[in-house]
Amino acid sequence: MSEQSAARAAELDASDELAVCRELFSLDKETVYLDGNSLGALPRHVPDRMRDVMEREWGQLRIRSWDESGWWTAPERTGDRIAPIIGAAAGTTVVGDSTSVNVFKALVAAIRMADPARDEVLVDATTFPTDGYVAESAARMTGKRLVPYTPGDPMGPRTAAVLVNHVDYRTGRLHDLPGITAAAHEAGALAVWDLCHSAGALPVGLEAHEVDFAVGCTYKYLNGGPGSPAFLYVRPDHQSSFDSPLPGWNSHADPFGMTPDFTPGTGAVRGRVGTPDILSMLALESALDVWDGVSIEAVRAKSLALTDFFLEHVTLESVTPAAHAERGSQVSLRCADAGAVMKELIARGVVGDFRQPDILRFGFTPLYVGFADAERAAAVLASVLA
Ligand SMILES: *Cc1c(COP(=O)(O)O)cnc(C)c1O
Repeated sequence: MSEQSAARAAELDASDELAVCRELFSLDKETVYLDGNSLGALPRHVPDRMRDVMEREWGQLRIRSWDESGWWTAPERTGDRIAPIIGAAAGTTVVGDSTSVNVFKALVAAIRMADPARDEVLVDATTFPTDGYVAESAARMTGKRLVPYTPGDPMGPRTAAVLVNHVDYRTGRLHDLPGITAAAHEAGALAVWDLCHSAGALPVGLEAHEVDFAVGCTYKYLNGGPGSPAFLYVRPDHQSSFDSPLPGWNSHADPFGMTPDFTPGTGAVRGRVGTPDILSMLALESALDVWDGVSIEAVRAKSLALTDFFLEHVTLESVTPAAHAERGSQVSLRCADAGAVMKELIARGVVGDFRQPDILRFGFTPLYVGFADAERAAAVLASVLA
């Protein structure tokens, strides 16, 4: 049985067009890394780029680098590199701050754009905690009522905005972005999407589905490095009315005019606040090179094949939906004593993570995880459980 699965995995790896991408990452042969949905692996070329940033751009050019090394425009430039991965046009996406902060900007801006008579803000009931905390504060500040939302629930004349996680971080369930966005618009509300677990994992199609606002992490499937800055997308026709609750000198039309009154800039810069976090931003920008020539559709096809393969080889109950249309790029398995089981898996070189109370979570990052990895993870899991 296991010889058979190993042979099948080898066959699948041999016909995998993305297999070459693995060489772009710094990974050891001893570890099966299935936690790239929490912290993406390091692309090999990034340390050399960072050495140049530190030694030459900072060390030698110092202040001149804001202009000569393109530091000042890095937030928009890096946003333009992410845009095609999430189905957005150039000039719509800016990089900076954390996802938590960008959720605040996007949600408050959406509420401000909605009809003031609408008094409800919907947030998906199983949201990643930070989105829920920020949404509660945003609702309170704007005098709205926060309402838990189960994807598929009706929206109505009281709905101002809805905030949904594209993929549920715990279960790996993929929510219906086109359908929920269309339903929000039908009800006269705005849709804000959190793409932390879908950006770089599957096609999002922000522009095609007329999403109003979107935010997401860059340190998960985009491999930007620990704490790398997040992105914020604003639909092109909302940009001129985008009223950020965090206007800073970086979002000003003329930042170096240093005027006391605020005149917002045009386009993606409005999503900026203060001085960007250049070292992390440039590490992310460099990390995005691994996407050159890679189609997100190919990534999605491999992700589904990998998660199908893994699901076929495990015996625990999966809380991740079996239907492709409802599955992100992870598999979450329910397991008694999951914390201790994950510790043992990690000790045996299979790195996933544990989520309360009983979930083993395995992230499949198609750029550097192969079928032999999935096969080995399933085999090690079986032996830990035995
Ligand atoms: C990972 C994640 C975050 C993290 O937010 P930070 O501000 O980067 O800490 C937020 N939302 C979701 C849905 C996530 O998966």
